[in-house]
Amino acid sequence: TICLPDCLRRSARAFPDKMALTFQGYRATYAALDEMVDRFANCLNDFGVKQGDSVAILLPNVIPCVAAYYAIMRIGAIAVMNNPLYSDRELEHQFNDSGSKVLITLDLLGNRMIDLRPKTEIKQIVITSIGDYLPFPKNLLFPLVGKKKGLAADVKSADNVYRWKALMAQYTPDPPQVTPNFDDVAMYQYTGGTTGVSKGVMLTHANLSKQVQHVTAWFPAFGSDEIMLGALPFFHVFGLSTAMNLAIYKGWGNILIPKPQPPQLLEAIGKFKPTFAPLVPTMYIGMLEHPDIGKTDLTSIKGCFSGSAPLPLEVINAFEKKTGAIIVEGFGMTESTPVTHINPFKGQRKVGSVGLPIPDTLARIVSLDDGVTDVPVGETGELLVKGPQVMKGYWKRPDATAETITDGWLHTGDIAKMDEDGYFYIVDRKKDMIISGGYNVYPRDIEEVYFEHPKVMEATAIGVPHPKRGEAVKVFIVLKEGQTATAEEMMKYCQDKLAKYKWPTEIEFRDELPKTNVGKVLKKDLRAMEQQKK
Ligand code: ATP
Ligand code: MG
Repeated sequence: TICLPDCLRRSARAFPDKMALTFQGYRATYAALDEMVDRFANCLNDFGVKQGDSVAILLPNVIPCVAAYYAIMRIGAIAVMNNPLYSDRELEHQFNDSGSKVLITLDLLGNRMIDLRPKTEIKQIVITSIGDYLPFPKNLLFPLVGKKKGLAADVKSADNVYRWKALMAQYTPDPPQVTPNFDDVAMYQYTGGTTGVSKGVMLTHANLSKQVQHVTAWFPAFGSDEIMLGALPFFHVFGLSTAMNLAIYKGWGNILIPKPQPPQLLEAIGKFKPTFAPLVPTMYIGMLEHPDIGKTDLTSIKGCFSGSAPLPLEVINAFEKKTGAIIVEGFGMTESTPVTHINPFKGQRKVGSVGLPIPDTLARIVSLDDGVTDVPVGETGELLVKGPQVMKGYWKRPDATAETITDGWLHTGDIAKMDEDGYFYIVDRKKDMIISGGYNVYPRDIEEVYFEHPKVMEATAIGVPHPKRGEAVKVFIVLKEGQTATAEEMMKYCQDKLAKYKWPTEIEFRDELPKTNVGKVLKKDLRAMEQQKK
């Protein structure tokens, strides 16, 4: 097996003229992409970046995002992906925690990053524009930057700020003379920050490479000439592995979509005819509800992959009918690059299940009491996984690493169960479980009941301190627009639907719930607010 930057090199030699990336009609062939990677690798060397140094990327899915990421890995440096929607506070944490020395970002964020730089170790900032790779700047296929007039936002002048396009012209594409080892760390990928401060996960070249091999082995119907819908953000581990790395590993084309909203997704599918689409549930739902869905031919898609949150059956059925594709759901986390389970593409798919462990991956469910004893089939416990995709550890957090990985088994922190056929089901997060009067209560059970209420838009359940029961259930509800309801009404509503020990003792109405940037509810913030009240 070889590292992913070498896979790219191999593809560039084997089929130089094949399309690697398409961005709004601009096409970069494998040879062109490989050249960009070499040019930027030489630039990074010139900037003083050494093997093991970290380099930050703060970009949506644009061509320089892919090229910069592969260049960083090619010289054995460490790539750090960052979400462009993050606040300065969040970015400062990630830049400093990772010790990033160079930043590659978009012109729209340029001034903010120049101002933030003195608080970090970043020396050079490289700026790219959406317009850097557009064939017809005046004739956008779909709008990217909203109301912005031009394609390039103004960036103030400052020292050590460079333009990506100028660097591409300045540096030659000679292959750099360093090669990373398979077991070297290739990136620090930050977790979602749903349950605590987001942690840098050390992923090695081996993790990244094995992950795409095993995921593709699970999709036997796909050949070497597929077209990827590159809509999941590459700065998140799900998009990174299944939408970017997988396509490069297989030598597929990739349609880059920096703003994956329903109209952009539909337009890209209609125009560029992708065959494989890894997406999250909100994207399938958004497309199905969009008025243009009837006008778009979606039949090029053969297969879809869904993860990160549960995918409802109605959505699977409706989307499969429109496309003729098969959607399979899977499970993963940043600490496992991310995928560990997927429903089989050919064979029995079970709705509500995250499927079977992918090749070379082991999974077990252990007792919540002792954390080591395997529980019988059908019973709930913590999910542990082991395989070549499991991280080397958390960056600079040996204690957290030791708690999370024991004997090679990654403790997912998720409660799950397995059925007689070996299919896995995610029940809830361990940290979110409520223990009320000695009973384990899974918030998701309660939330699902409230989601069915016609007035309710969102609901989330947490445990709050209770003098007799230890913890009691509190439900936060966001009502649909124009609706009103009382707490009594909402408490009564669940009484014939849930066992008594799961009934909430408190209901609070909110206009919105605190959420992470990927839309997961921040229950830890709600719990902290409750603690403060006591
Ligand atoms: P942090 O670890 O910083 O608190 P996070 O766990 O949300 O944040 P990620 O690694 O992005 O960060 O998310 C992994 C988690 O997402 C899993 O542990 C699991 O709880 C949830 N998850 C992933 N796939 C699914 C799925 N198919 N169904 C339900 N939950 C899922
Ligand atoms: Mg996590």
